[in-house]
Amino acid sequence: MKIYNSLTRQKEEFKSITPGEVKMYVCGPTVYNYFHIGNGRTFIVFDTIRRYLEYKGYKVEFIQNFTDIDDKMIKKANEEGTTVADIGDRYINEYYKDADGLNIKRASTNPRATEYIEDIIEFVSGLIEKGYAYEVDGDVYFRTKKFNGYGKLIKQSLEDLQSGARINVDERKEDPMDFALWKSQKPGEPAWESPWGLGRPGWHIECSCMAKKLLGETIDIHAGGMDLAFPHHENEIAQSEALTGKPFANYWMHSAYLNVNNQKMSKSLNNFLTARDALEKYDADIIRFLMLSAHYRVQLNFSDDLLESAKASVERLYNAVSNLENLISEVKKEKMDEQEEEYLKSLDKYREKYIAKMDDDFNTADAITAIFDLIKDINTNVSIESSKELCEKALELIRELGNPLGILQKSTKGSLEEEIERLIEERQQARKDRNFALADKIRDDLKARNIVLEDTPQGVRWKKIN
Ligand code: AMP
Ligand code: ZN
Repeated sequence: MKIYNSLTRQKEEFKSITPGEVKMYVCGPTVYNYFHIGNGRTFIVFDTIRRYLEYKGYKVEFIQNFTDIDDKMIKKANEEGTTVADIGDRYINEYYKDADGLNIKRASTNPRATEYIEDIIEFVSGLIEKGYAYEVDGDVYFRTKKFNGYGKLIKQSLEDLQSGARINVDERKEDPMDFALWKSQKPGEPAWESPWGLGRPGWHIECSCMAKKLLGETIDIHAGGMDLAFPHHENEIAQSEALTGKPFANYWMHSAYLNVNNQKMSKSLNNFLTARDALEKYDADIIRFLMLSAHYRVQLNFSDDLLESAKASVERLYNAVSNLENLISEVKKEKMDEQEEEYLKSLDKYREKYIAKMDDDFNTADAITAIFDLIKDINTNVSIESSKELCEKALELIRELGNPLGILQKSTKGSLEEEIERLIEERQQARKDRNFALADKIRDDLKARNIVLEDTPQGVRWKKIN
């Protein structure tokens, strides 16, 4: 299996530190609001990657943090006249509702930054002891000049970065690229005791610290949206590797933006759609399908048309599911015969294609094509003449390939009854319209599916016959 590693800018064969296990850390949301489907793209992408690793047999330790202390959190708490902790509690709760709604698997752990303050203080102290950090007036900064590899993720030297950072030079910092590990308390801000006085952690340090604490000094995969590569991930690498002297993560993965009119979907541009609003109109399968219909490293331009086309595609996929579910309860033959066994084996080629595509840096777009090819084959070759066993196996295969993508797991069973009720109503209307040909056709079609209609004084009833 190959993964594109942002650190080396190439696809590399994936090899985990411990065979059969993957330690993965994904930067999570700042919990001061509902998340939008741009954030959702990143969460869905890494959920899919985690699911696929599990499909391949890995045990995945999946950590996604909640940033529950920063400027935006403090601002929101002040606006609402409440505490930062209260805002955190509320939007973590809302996060779970929407993430569950999007069929995103729960992380092994969702650490909250504020629960790791002691570990963060210990981390920062360690950096000071080693000469990688210094304190000024209660703030602690990372000494970028001291860390040799600074800029290795974005492939820029410290000098290039310094020249770009001339504006807004803070006189108290030794170098414009030095960044805050600990911030002294400003009036009205929540703060914790530390060797440098009351204050709170910087943003970057929380991820370095929680990843180390929960997964160890070197992890397999560290991931997040493209915007996090610099400075967030660059700074994480500097802090972690300065402290431990070991590589922080073996593979760095970054997912591309979800755009609107070629601009990044973001709160500040006010061009966002919350996951909650999207889920009111569209099923999770549709939203996931849309996100996964492009490769995760390619920007995706969101539009209503794209959503509608995802909806139509998902309907086509579920028609195949529904068809098989109906056949399972309608076909007469129980077991597969030899010919059917052969046929079932022939479907393996779609699984192989799917795996080959997913193994190639998680090419979900082409993996989806393999699923479409599979259902096309099934639609042409599995019918009312087939055995129940074959129908079941065919459906199992569709669900197996849908599972890593987090789609196609639902049953359409409930809707079979609805469909029959709808057809009965259509038939009644046809009769009223004296369109007896249509009315008879509806009855005959249902009969072919072993559903017979009875006209009773109480109205039309239906039953299944075997
Ligand atoms: P935030 O809460 O802003 O820190 O974002 C949480 C995650 O969503 C981070 O991994 C971001 O990189 C990612 N993200 C934010 N906006 C977008 C977008 N428009 N498209 C894809 N990912 C995004
Ligand atoms: Zn992070």
